[in-house]
Amino acid sequence: MVGGIGQMDRGFIEAIVRDVIASRLCSSETAKNTDCSGVLAFVPKLVVSISARHVHLTDKDVRTLFGYDELKKMKDLYQDGFYAAEETVMLVGPRRRMLPTVRILGPTRPETQVELAFTDAISLGIDPPVRESGKLQGTSGCVLVGPKGVVELDHGVIRAERHVHMNKNEAVFYGVKDKERMRLRVTSGGCTTTFENLLVRIGEGLKLEVHLDTDEGNAADLEHADKVELLNSAKEIAVAA
Ligand SMILES: [Zn+2]
Repeated sequence: MVGGIGQMDRGFIEAIVRDVIASRLCSSETAKNTDCSGVLAFVPKLVVSISARHVHLTDKDVRTLFGYDELKKMKDLYQDGFYAAEETVMLVGPRRRMLPTVRILGPTRPETQVELAFTDAISLGIDPPVRESGKLQGTSGCVLVGPKGVVELDHGVIRAERHVHMNKNEAVFYGVKDKERMRLRVTSGGCTTTFENLLVRIGEGLKLEVHLDTDEGNAADLEHADKVELLNSAKEIAVAA
């Protein structure tokens, strides 16, 4: 009978442990994403976007270039609150080289920033550094020409560092922290390209989205991709989409 009681105890204890694990999962940040049986039922939807050349402007530079205060929204972007504006500017580099129509993205920012792919920069005759958005010290300059005025930037032009936006739940799923690095594998027409060192940018209200520039997207033929996988470089968790 002692053995029998031991069996019961073990079963009882195992049940308690299961309940405790389930309740912990359900009260954690992943709560919304579990079915409360201790199994992660949540697989984030992975979106990989090409971020084509664009400009972010300050309020002051909007007024200088266009002669009014508010950008006109043309199209919402995937991330809530961000949009492509109707406005475009011409970018002019050294020796009068130029890119005639570069889209403005809203909302406005504390500092004007131009984001180009490597090929764009070559066309413009400049050699901007690869930088995280907003880290503009010591970057390249160029001239912005709008219908109502001109803005001369002595810095602010970058090649945007490849990165992935996500919210806290998605970060828990992948096991990553803000500013860590991930890897993106793109399989397209039987050809596989892997991008290393994607910067993780975690923020409230963000949706899981990788941003590559046009050169990177074209190199991997993202347009015709059969599969994209976001990998935690340390843990090799892959999610196909
Ligand atoms: Zn981005």
